Amino acid sequence: MTALKCIALIAHDQKKDDMAEFARRHEAELSRRRIVATGTTGGRIKEACPSLDVTRLKSGPLGGDQQIGAMIATGEVDMLIFFVDPLTSMPHDVDVKALMRLATVYDIPMALNRATAEILLTPGALGA
Ligand code: PGA
Repeated sequence: MTALKCIALIAHDQKKDDMAEFARRHEAELSRRRIVATGTTGGRIKEACPSLDVTRLKSGPLGGDQQIGAMIATGEVDMLIFFVDPLTSMPHDVDVKALMRLATVYDIPMALNRATAEILLTPGALGA
């Protein structure tokens, strides 16, 4: 796998504590990449890991997921880690689906839960 340059991080509300903890645990690995995140998720990551350079986009329900989808389509984002909440209905469900579709179309690594994200960030799994 070629070295990844930019990772997008998103977490639904019920998963934001988990994402903050995940970012702390992988701070060293994440600090070697550009990080983009939806607005609220990015704020939580920045609180948890002040040293990380996090580009915060719009909040998911206000278009942040679509912004990340567009960045996947233009080749600016090459991995998606999205901690989804499968137990709550979302007003922006169609945006979430569109984002997952683009990650699939462009064949980028996509983790939708913590277990898969841990595998993707295993040292060496991302390439140099
Ligand atoms: P948020 O958006 O990080 O701004 O909460 C995430 C989402 O709900 O898609």
